[in-house]
Amino acid sequence: MSRIGVFICHCGENIGKTVDCPRVAESARKLPGVVYAVDYRYTCSEPGQAQIRDAIKEHKLTGVVVGACSPRMHEKTFRKTCAAAGLNPYLCEIANLREQCSWVHTDREQATRKAIDIVRSIVARVQRNTPLAPIRVPLTRRALVIGGGIAGIQAALDIADGGTEVILVERTPSLGGHMAQLSETFPTLDCSQCILTPRMVEAASHPNIRLETYSEVEKLGGYVGNFEVTIRRKARSIDPKKCTGCGTCWQKCPVKKLPSEFDEGLGLRAAIGIPFPQAVPNKPVIDRANCIKFKNGKCGACQKLCQTGAVDFTQEDEIITEKVGAIVVATGFQVLPKDQLPAYADGDHPDVLTGLQFERLASASGPTGGEIRRPSDGKEPQTVVFVQCAGSRDREKGRAYCSKICCMYTAKHAMLYRHKVHGGRAIVLCMDVRTPGKGYDEFYRRAIEQDGVIYLRSRAARIYRDNGQLVVQAADTLNGGERLDIKADLVVLGSAAIPQPDVRTLAQKLGVGYDADGWLSEAHPKLRPVETNTAGIFLAGACQGPKDIPDTVAQASAAAAKTLALFAAKELQRDPIIARVNRCAPPVFSTCIGCFTCAAACPYKAIEREEIRDRKGGLIKVVARVNESLCQGCGTCVSLCRSKSMDLDGFTEEEVFAALEALVE
Ligand code: SF4
Ligand code: SF4
Ligand code: SF4
Ligand code: SF4
Repeated sequence: MSRIGVFICHCGENIGKTVDCPRVAESARKLPGVVYAVDYRYTCSEPGQAQIRDAIKEHKLTGVVVGACSPRMHEKTFRKTCAAAGLNPYLCEIANLREQCSWVHTDREQATRKAIDIVRSIVARVQRNTPLAPIRVPLTRRALVIGGGIAGIQAALDIADGGTEVILVERTPSLGGHMAQLSETFPTLDCSQCILTPRMVEAASHPNIRLETYSEVEKLGGYVGNFEVTIRRKARSIDPKKCTGCGTCWQKCPVKKLPSEFDEGLGLRAAIGIPFPQAVPNKPVIDRANCIKFKNGKCGACQKLCQTGAVDFTQEDEIITEKVGAIVVATGFQVLPKDQLPAYADGDHPDVLTGLQFERLASASGPTGGEIRRPSDGKEPQTVVFVQCAGSRDREKGRAYCSKICCMYTAKHAMLYRHKVHGGRAIVLCMDVRTPGKGYDEFYRRAIEQDGVIYLRSRAARIYRDNGQLVVQAADTLNGGERLDIKADLVVLGSAAIPQPDVRTLAQKLGVGYDADGWLSEAHPKLRPVETNTAGIFLAGACQGPKDIPDTVAQASAAAAKTLALFAAKELQRDPIIARVNRCAPPVFSTCIGCFTCAAACPYKAIEREEIRDRKGGLIKVVARVNESLCQGCGTCVSLCRSKSMDLDGFTEEEVFAALEALVE
């Protein structure tokens, strides 16, 4: 005989304002099998949980229903509460009265009636629940970090320092990411490469870190604690074991005038080389699309001149598979390309620069050695207009979000320009200025008060050419929208941060979510900001949304801490929500007919063949069997099995139908 306790939470006003909680509890008291029902302001609070524990003991409850927020929020909390009072945690169920009721209704009477129905349905379900025990699975104590920018480097170093082996995969030939391209960093004006390159070297030489640069994740299988990752090592055309990084090959390569990706097209590179002088590893890559040898079989100078015989034109991509227990995704962002802003000089004027191009111009290691020169004619610009929010906060263009870093990097750019061109005019056009960071507002004020940067509250509508002169057209919003036409020698855009172009493909490979803009989604914006909805996969840095360097580093360390916490356990415990093939007495043994429709459909390859044999070893029949370690409880097999031989623990047909039938009573 069931003895169910029902606990209705007001969730402050979240539920209580729309749902008459005392009435829902009173109605629950009359349900068959319910021996106790109560409402309380915050059931998740310590007194609220104590109320559940006390009631389990006092009323000898055999099942608990908590009418509260979504199970995603507090199912674990309440199951732990029940376990603490000696009740099997899987005999506790959540009736979702917040997301599925109070938050989506305004009519109190109707919402209360719906809440009563939901509770009745879950009470019927919990009466059919059976005690379950968590599944224990072994754990591979090794992590994969995807992305070798500052986020990936920091996460890899923290995990490695914690004593765990890390594979750090970076798709370009070197570690460093965007931070390696920056001139100085705000608000301290530290040289970016000076603070980054020691970290790159540390990661490359760490005994617990294995670098896989110029490599990409192809496929991911498995589950938390036991992922299997397939990595493509792209052909560098160089044997890294033989190469000493002497540089002869790229100095002698006859193809020298290719636009440098690292210099954002403002500098040149050869068909063989490293992306920048401090690259890690210091081993070149041949750009096969532009190498003469690969185009027409001629040249081969690099191979002839290489003293160590490191050049190998026949090298092919290599596919490797690795087992890891956790994954940190740190794939970063990209800057909105100019050609996506056609109103700004048709998106292709050489003297209209993206924020990242200006970084290369201002950098001592950049194409001009740090001198501010116009790309079109090499002259020093006397008036530079900086345009904030270039592509951000623009609903019409489908990019409503704030890129978060542009206000600060624009202040830095204007400041650097004034430091380098003393008589120059720096004009910033901005909708407003957002400086929410330590020392950020002081930095912005310094740009105005010490460095004489002029800020105008305005949004640049367009940039046009007038007899060869660049003109920025804007509306002065503090002056009644008066039209401004500002002549500029150079325009620098506060270009929006946007997701990597192929991030959706990666997200699908990894099974993690992404939002409408393409940023990877965290499991909960407040309480689980570095976890994804796939257990064992964590997020670090700007792949989740625009972030500055301090926030990126902090999140990378948080992802590393989560990884190490996962690895601290002896083995993993998983929810026992898995599929099972039924068993019955001989001569039937199981109603499974061995069609294996389920196996073909199972996304986790969790269904195996089982041979049922008689005592003499004769084959009686072949049936399906679920591998407990691999099954993720998705239920696909259950819905496809035509002989109804599959059921899902925790969501059995009996439990689900009891809940449905109670709704239509
Ligand atoms: Fe030097 Fe040969 Fe390496 Fe080129 S490939 S950097 S020539 S060792
Ligand atoms: Fe350059 Fe290709 Fe010639 Fe090597 S073979 S020197 S990479 S063009
Ligand atoms: Fe076929 Fe069902 Fe057996 Fe799977 S469990 S092999 S779908 S009968
Ligand atoms: Fe595979 Fe079925 Fe488990 Fe889903 S529930 S993972 S389909 S065995």
